[in-house]
Amino acid sequence: MIYSNMYGYDYLKAEKLTYGLFFLSAVGHNAIIQLCYRKDGLINMGKKHLSSVHVSHHKNTAACASEVMPIPDIVKISMSQHIGAPCKPLVAKGDYVKVGQKIGDTDAFVSAPIHSSVSGTVTGIEQARSAAGGYDTLVVIEPDKKQEISEEVQIPEEPKDLAEFVADVRKAGIVGLGGAAFPTSIKFNPKNLDDVHYLVVNAAECEPYITSDHRTMLEDTEDLIRGCQLIMKYDGLDHGYIAIEDNKPDAIEHINKALKEHGIDNIETFSLQANYPKGAERVLVYEIFGKVMNAGVLPADMGCILDNVNTVTKVGHYFRTGVPLIAKKLTVDGDAVKEPKNVIVPIGTLVHDVIDYCGGYKEEPRKILMGGPMMGRAIPTDEMPIVKNNNAILAFSKEKAQVKMETACINCGRCHQACPFDLIPTALADAYERHDAQALFDLDVNQCMNCGSCSYICPAHRPLAFMNTLGKSIVKEAGIK
Ligand code: SF4
Ligand code: SF4
Repeated sequence: MIYSNMYGYDYLKAEKLTYGLFFLSAVGHNAIIQLCYRKDGLINMGKKHLSSVHVSHHKNTAACASEVMPIPDIVKISMSQHIGAPCKPLVAKGDYVKVGQKIGDTDAFVSAPIHSSVSGTVTGIEQARSAAGGYDTLVVIEPDKKQEISEEVQIPEEPKDLAEFVADVRKAGIVGLGGAAFPTSIKFNPKNLDDVHYLVVNAAECEPYITSDHRTMLEDTEDLIRGCQLIMKYDGLDHGYIAIEDNKPDAIEHINKALKEHGIDNIETFSLQANYPKGAERVLVYEIFGKVMNAGVLPADMGCILDNVNTVTKVGHYFRTGVPLIAKKLTVDGDAVKEPKNVIVPIGTLVHDVIDYCGGYKEEPRKILMGGPMMGRAIPTDEMPIVKNNNAILAFSKEKAQVKMETACINCGRCHQACPFDLIPTALADAYERHDAQALFDLDVNQCMNCGSCSYICPAHRPLAFMNTLGKSIVKEAGIK
């Protein structure tokens, strides 16, 4: 019996070879032949793990049941809450709007409509700085706090086919809630549907601090299961996996119990090692199917529809209630927050109102993040509104947010070992510093998903992931493909 010495990243390296290769591996007591092809036709039957790093979990709010925040005095609803074309406001200053009323939409294909999270009066349409650094159009609403429900909110009739299902999902304004905000209706309608057989629900929640997905699994289990079943029914999928890191054993147990009670045997939980970045789409596909997914490849090309657990839960919620995506479950944490907790807030609530609901700041925060510490975005002000794909607000003190001074590389190789895709961050950093677009391209900078594992592990505190972000721009500007 011969054991392969190929780890995940070794495999990725191997897939760059011109010729396919056979190697023997062992699963249990049975030696099997595994077949590796190169990039354009990969199948890796091995259940090996890609490189990852152990980050402190800080899941301080895991036991905090979600609280519904009272309606704030003002909401500012962004018209850019998804990847793709921004929506145009359908309301004007002085209009009265109701909960669930559509207030923004566009004819663009890659888009999702936007609904009011409150009832009240539109007091203005503003342009404001977005968390991404550009400008967003915001519909400003002064709530009357009566929460009158719009006549548009109706429980949808059972869709007759996939086209009707997809149209309903778009109508609900659902987008990827794990961070990407890609319109979900498009994901449910892949071009190669005949080749797609699996649903993967991404419930890894590998970012430190964030527990909102964990709470969703415990609190909204029925909507989650309903969402899975609907997607599987209309997309004709054979099997579903709910992938959860093994640091959430209560969620795994809870979902297993619910699936058993419902007699569902075509959906199962899939336990992941609690290491970062197991929840990255490309890593998850490898962990479950043993298939290498390169940058730019869609989950559908790998035979699955892959969605965040909150997204799938919102699908189940919409078909049960007819209420579109108007509220968001968030984790509020960080050492500058007085009372860390999980809260359900109307979309458009300002960050400082959310923080006030959590007891306010303990001290002036040095850094506020939308999202987790690994891939979240630092925001310049807490005047910004919550958008659909926010899953956390983290506020850190001066002491915690201190940026460590960068020192010289000691060639320890840890960054290379940490990278799930076997990239060589030191070589990429050198190429970036030389502004060498061809070298960046040849070193596969475009395969970098900016997970930050290399920066995290680097004892010299080099901003390696950030350099890769800039490196990609250099390649793009040079027009190298
Ligand atoms: S940021 Fe990029 S180079 Fe660094 S570990 Fe992640 S994928 Fe690899
Ligand atoms: S982890 Fe940091 S110090 Fe070590 S080789 Fe990479 S860049 Fe250099």
